[in-house]
Amino acid sequence: MTAPIPGRSSDSLAGLREVFGYAAFRGAQGEIVDHVAAGGDALVLMPTGGGKSLCYQLPSLLRAGTGIVVSPLIALMQDQVAALTQLGVSAAFLNSALDADAARAVERALLAGELDLLYVAPERLTTPRCLDLLARAQIALFAIDEAHCVSQWGHDFRPEYLQLSLLHERFPQVPRIALTATADPQTRTEIVSRLALGAARMFVSSFDRPNIRYTIVDKVDPRAQLLRFLREEHPGEAGIVYCLSRRKVDETAAWLATQGVNALPYHAGMDTAARTEHQSRFQREDGIVMVATIAFGMGIDKPDVRFVAHLDLPKSIEGYYQETGRAGRDGLPAYAWMAYGLADVVQQRRLIEQGEAADEFKRLSSAKLDALLGLCETAGCRRVRLLDYFGEASQPCGNCDTCLEPPETWDATEAARKALSAIYRTGQRFGAVHLIDVLRGKDNERVGRWDHDKLSVFGIGADLDADAWRGVFRQLVSLGLARVDHEAHGGLKLSAASREVLTGGQRVEMRRVVPRRRPTPVSRTAAVGHLPPGAANLLERLKAWRLAEARTQSVPAFVILHDSTLMEIARTRPQNLDALASVGGIGARKLERYGAALLDLLGAQTR
Ligand code: ADP
Ligand code: ZN
Repeated sequence: MTAPIPGRSSDSLAGLREVFGYAAFRGAQGEIVDHVAAGGDALVLMPTGGGKSLCYQLPSLLRAGTGIVVSPLIALMQDQVAALTQLGVSAAFLNSALDADAARAVERALLAGELDLLYVAPERLTTPRCLDLLARAQIALFAIDEAHCVSQWGHDFRPEYLQLSLLHERFPQVPRIALTATADPQTRTEIVSRLALGAARMFVSSFDRPNIRYTIVDKVDPRAQLLRFLREEHPGEAGIVYCLSRRKVDETAAWLATQGVNALPYHAGMDTAARTEHQSRFQREDGIVMVATIAFGMGIDKPDVRFVAHLDLPKSIEGYYQETGRAGRDGLPAYAWMAYGLADVVQQRRLIEQGEAADEFKRLSSAKLDALLGLCETAGCRRVRLLDYFGEASQPCGNCDTCLEPPETWDATEAARKALSAIYRTGQRFGAVHLIDVLRGKDNERVGRWDHDKLSVFGIGADLDADAWRGVFRQLVSLGLARVDHEAHGGLKLSAASREVLTGGQRVEMRRVVPRRRPTPVSRTAAVGHLPPGAANLLERLKAWRLAEARTQSVPAFVILHDSTLMEIARTRPQNLDALASVGGIGARKLERYGAALLDLLGAQTR
């Protein structure tokens, strides 16, 4: 059934309200919708959660014919189509998951002009058969989602995407809209040239994700720190825990499970069936913690991921931004948490230096790592640093750890000198653990074996505890004042810059490593959006109703109604259909379908 919207772009706001149930466009959405509905090409750069889908879905309804959406992840097409169907939009998909009969039915519907939107996998779209099919149908527009997949330098490169310039050649009169959340200028340029979008209008949004709170803590006892974060700040919530290696993913997931956390592993070494099952459970069930390598993530469109935790350092700020960006697509408070220590720096440096890549690539990777270390060590606002990296100026945000609890800095010149002397006197081949023992005057077997208790540096650092020294060594390395020697199993060496500190009188300022006070469990109160007393209870009942409804229809819960919609209902307790219709996320079709049940639930509460 085609949604009843007249084909004029001045009706975009009416369409937004009627079909999607939203009161207003977000950011540039309105402009983009009008531009594409009027037949223009567009390149849309918007952060995750910014509302990109609406930018092609609504114009597809406003224009005559079917909007064709190219999307790389067939696993998610089904959910997207389910969500559109809930809105009363006629949508379907064509991919390898369909058997021949089902595919023919979709093709017939397309040719009969019965579809508003059709999702197609890129490898399928570029086949002669599919192109012929499209030539016989009326096409409203082409939407190329995750357009950065066309970039060979990015990590999501899909060779099939290179073929998509075909669309412009075969259907020059059909408007195209390419969308991505990838912020860097190099990728942008590549999208424009490879997809022949030189004449397209470019819409660049701010890449800030104001609802995400960034926190980077000193790694002391990572498992215990993670468990505390999960138990005290995010009990029962869905989130992702990123680890560097497959083995660590497996071990961490298994250990979390023994601790009563609903955790599942995900990495590219697992067999496809198990991987798909875990991804689908994460997407559909409430409150699963996915422990994963970065193989997990692209195209995850679960709106209520409440946190992303990093147990290991990402490779770059781009990676950090993209991975943490999977939290909080629904705009509700979300948390990016990372535990970071010297071993991470050592490990990342080794990966770069011992990798197979060309020298130029190694230099680039190393510079990217340095930028990330700068973010980790900054005493200023994390968000300011992050946005600055993407060329966006901003003010301290008030929603990151350094804004909320400004770190103390201290004059670490003396400590840095002692640490560098210890590196030098012990022959520039020992790691921080041993150096700390020497500095603190520990009389253990290893120290004795090397006669390090006879050195002048033995015991000169007894005034600082081991945690403080770990912080000193980590910062020396991330500030470039000491180097990691990978030939010597990660031993520390002096760098050119070390001399400035040892003999040149350079002052060194460092962040003080403090055993963090227990963080206030912000998320519990914040995620419930300051609900008045009683409303939290009502929210639980609404969620229970939604879960039952989702099970009956076998769709993910968020496809029925989003958390933010349920929260608004719990807060405002609408008492009739009109009031319910003004709640964000309730369009005409959802009102018709669920209005009575919701009012029933609300009535039972108030009476
Ligand atoms: P993206 O694809 O950019 O990551 P989505 O299209 O998934 O983002 O949208 C993110 C969330 O914002 C979804 O929950 C969507 O329903 C919601 N949303 C989009 N546009 C609006 C709007 N104008 N008003 C309110 N919510 C919106
Ligand atoms: Zn801040």
